[in-house]
Amino acid sequence: STFQDLGLNEDLLKGITDLGFEKPSEVQEKAIPILLSEETDLVALAQTGTGKTAAFGFPMLQKIDVNSRTTQGLILSPTRELCLQIANEMKAYGKYCKGLNVVAIYGGSSITDQAREVKRGAQIIVATPGRMKDMISRRLVDITKIQYSVLDEADEMLNMGFKEDITEILSGTPEDKNTWLFSATMPKEVARIAKKFMLDPKEITV
Ligand code: AMP
Repeated sequence: STFQDLGLNEDLLKGITDLGFEKPSEVQEKAIPILLSEETDLVALAQTGTGKTAAFGFPMLQKIDVNSRTTQGLILSPTRELCLQIANEMKAYGKYCKGLNVVAIYGGSSITDQAREVKRGAQIIVATPGRMKDMISRRLVDITKIQYSVLDEADEMLNMGFKEDITEILSGTPEDKNTWLFSATMPKEVARIAKKFMLDPKEITV
């Protein structure tokens, strides 16, 4: 199939052409039609390098309202490097989505600068759990309008001891948001988080 077949809009298709992506990867083929056509939770077993960032990134970019400046999408990821990488990919994917602001939030860098960027109107935040929790408790971000949340590399985040932070963050987001969990493995801890925060998730494996 083609990206067009998956139901992506013209702005995203233009960005995809610029990036030189010729056809969807397996995880993209499986995840994108589900996430675009339904308001559903999703559990995806997928390794890095499979194109999973675009599998959740394209639907999130298509579903958020870029004319609003409230934070609608939250992507949690285990490390600063991954945060920056995901944020940069999201910006590239959304190059033609006019008004789009994607902000990366991670530790070891100025919280004031990150807060200023968020305040300008970030529809999508890509964050490490520790810094995100910190910014929430200091009221530097508003997570009460989140509609889509992604737990990327969920197994890694739990391995790194982020369970409490993730739990606290997700507990502050609306009950009726959708959560999309991506993980390379499905240990008990990940299944437990999925059970706690997701309702009847669709499941895909690649
Ligand atoms: P990821 O698994 O999201 O880290 O993606 C791995 C790499 O593949 C990244 O550099 C992406 O930019 C690239 N990529 C993602 N989807 C596609 C695609 N459909 N065709 C070609 N490259 C892709």
